[in-house]
Amino acid sequence: MVYNFNAGPAILPPAVLAEAQADLRDYRGTGMSLLEMSHRSAEYEAVNAEAQSRLKALLGVGDDYQVLFLQGGASLQFAMIPMNFLPANRVADYLLTGSWSEKALAEAATLGEVRIAASTRAGGYKTVPRPNEIALSEKPAYVHLTSNETIHGVQWHEWPDCGDRPLIADMSSDILSRPLDAGRFALLYAGAQKNLGPSGATVVVARTAFLNGAPDTIPAILRYATHAKANSLYNTPPSFAVYLILLTLRWIEAESGLAALGERNLQQAQTLYNAIDRSTGFYLGHAAPESRSLMNVTFRLANEADEKTFLSEASAAGFVGLAGHRSVGGVRASIYNAMTQEGADALADFMGHFAQRRG
Ligand SMILES: *Cc1c(COP(=O)(O)O)cnc(C)c1O
Repeated sequence: MVYNFNAGPAILPPAVLAEAQADLRDYRGTGMSLLEMSHRSAEYEAVNAEAQSRLKALLGVGDDYQVLFLQGGASLQFAMIPMNFLPANRVADYLLTGSWSEKALAEAATLGEVRIAASTRAGGYKTVPRPNEIALSEKPAYVHLTSNETIHGVQWHEWPDCGDRPLIADMSSDILSRPLDAGRFALLYAGAQKNLGPSGATVVVARTAFLNGAPDTIPAILRYATHAKANSLYNTPPSFAVYLILLTLRWIEAESGLAALGERNLQQAQTLYNAIDRSTGFYLGHAAPESRSLMNVTFRLANEADEKTFLSEASAAGFVGLAGHRSVGGVRASIYNAMTQEGADALADFMGHFAQRRG
């Protein structure tokens, strides 16, 4: 048995995997696997519809919002967003908080005019911008932010006030990890492989009126309106990934919803941040306390030479996936929804003992 701290694809609830396994060869008495079924079948249409409606219910959005299940990852969204919503005579505002928002900006810059409305890069991406550090354009086509920076371990805990400017968020690594006022967002998106299910599906939740604005000059497959009109069945969807998302959504409800899950996630994050703070300088947290991510806990060892030993001893003790992203190094514990308090406690204990031995 291992404790899985992978950043993505990542840990899934054991109950979800067990149900998928039980269903794998004979989906509900059909004599076939869902993997072998048409996406036009009644069975898959039911999966698609229930996953959409459960996601909307968990996010508290109504009939003016639509859920899409797409492919291409969050990375394709970086391009689709400006293609669809950034016309030639407009500008889009980007709030930079780490590697993923930089990537979103870079892709948009190849397609239209972009502005950096705030950036915490100069400080090494340890915080999100404070309200007085954000200078939005008067009438941008949209404002884009990354709710949780998976690599730097920095998270928005209070949304910026964007007035009536359309707000778009990459929520790949913290969607459904805490209660969310989704009605603030014109569009939010997430690659599924962190908090929602396996890789292969990307979730988009957006105001229907906002979705339909794209010009006809971009390819149909890249237009949100195409997928909205076809109810995510324009072409073959990632059907098994959507099925696992559905099982995960049911699991979240069975765990009594986002408020309870948010509390649990906060507790687990605090367990690890306490282990860092208690070490009096043996471990150095990357994020400033007010912007600490509850999903990706990033830190270094004061003595860099100890990091390799830490990671290899952790791995031998059953703590998997703790190496920081190759671009920043250090240690990263990803504690998505399916992580348990027991896992966080075990890692905090390991950290304490390691610091005692080496400190
Ligand atoms: C993982 C991640 C991405 C990239 O997702 P892909 O599905 O690999 O394209 C983008 N943004 C954030 C915040 C992520 O965590």
